[in-house]
Amino acid sequence: MADQDYTLADDLLEFIDAAPSPWHAAAIMAAQLQGMGFEELREDTAWTLRPGGDYFVRRGGASLVAFRVGSDPAGSGLRIIGTHTDSPGFRVRPEAAVGTDNGPGTLRTVGVEVYGGPIVASFADRDLGLAGPVWVSEPGTVATPRLFSSPHPLVRLPNLAIHLNRGVNEEGLKFQLQDQLALTFAENDDGAGEAGLREYLAAELGTTADAVTAWELAVADLQPGTRFGREREFIANSQLDNLASCHAGLHALVNERPARGVTMLACFDHEEVGSESHRGAAGNFLPSVMERLLAAVEARDAAGEVAARSWLVSADMAHAWNPNFPQAYDATHAPQVNGGPAIKLNAKQRYASDGEGEAWFRAACDRVGVPVQRYVHRNDIPCGSTIGPISAARLGIRTVDVGSPMWAMHSARESAGARDPAYLVAAFRSCLAEV
Ligand SMILES: [Zn+2]
Repeated sequence: MADQDYTLADDLLEFIDAAPSPWHAAAIMAAQLQGMGFEELREDTAWTLRPGGDYFVRRGGASLVAFRVGSDPAGSGLRIIGTHTDSPGFRVRPEAAVGTDNGPGTLRTVGVEVYGGPIVASFADRDLGLAGPVWVSEPGTVATPRLFSSPHPLVRLPNLAIHLNRGVNEEGLKFQLQDQLALTFAENDDGAGEAGLREYLAAELGTTADAVTAWELAVADLQPGTRFGREREFIANSQLDNLASCHAGLHALVNERPARGVTMLACFDHEEVGSESHRGAAGNFLPSVMERLLAAVEARDAAGEVAARSWLVSADMAHAWNPNFPQAYDATHAPQVNGGPAIKLNAKQRYASDGEGEAWFRAACDRVGVPVQRYVHRNDIPCGSTIGPISAARLGIRTVDVGSPMWAMHSARESAGARDPAYLVAAFRSCLAEV
């Protein structure tokens, strides 16, 4: 395959490199949408929408819904791509900078909470930064968020030498989650306080430590993405789950104008911790956007019909066949990287796909020559889930769970196929082109 076929893969890697946190991902998507003429709506202001208009709205900084209105929204329904912006890893604790008190005490560390289900050991020995909003107050006012990203690797989780951990290759690398995840941050300066994270952030943001009121900081792997393999036909980066789906959804939305219905991209935070939050997929963000959208186009009375005419593609990554671990898969339902998107099926409804959804998504892919695969989890390993079942239940919209196959899901450094981003965009565009 010629180099130019990997344009979307390279674009995806750049997107992730620029988005070390879900807040950054939402901000980048917002900036791209704005640059393409999408108008930002605010939830605390009345909406005036017009046919042919392009809009987006954010909630909580890290969730975003963008949509394009056709000439007859009620008659055609919606085509929605749903994704999540967050990735599992660590979040910095509020009282973050602690001196080590269980040894010689020459180092300062940053304490973290585990966020979602990361492969904890994969964060060891990596060039980690901190990224996310930091709330800074002016005297007499409520603090407001400023988006922060450390300009260089800032913290680290050093491994233990094999000479001090002789069983590591037989037993696996294990970190005790409460006591062994403190990230190395600075040399101690005998308690003068100037090496603390709060002081560091204040200096970076040009304010005082007292003005740094709160933060939501993710620990981010700062190594840039790359393509690897003989033809460089594979990709590696952090956060492929699920920024690869956000990236493909955004490309599809901005390149596919609806004729009659509404096309939409809905990207949620907090999927990795269950979606049950103000800005998560189990919250009312998307139902509220839909209700206000239908009201604005005078179709509120037709909400039931619109929902029944609509489709939601819940886009999250799928597990690709890994030849070193054949026992982890149902061999007849193990998708290959660079083989096109997989429809994710689960009889227990951990994925929302059903027969109707499979038929519909397959037809959309067939129309544009995108190959389709299937993923089904083994019976003897609990299956993960995603926003698909939550959204389907909440919205009453037919839903199909799909995703590009990838390796090492929830590792700090994930990998996938370099041809799949283009397959995913083409499949999504075909789904959106229906309305
Ligand atoms: Zn995911």
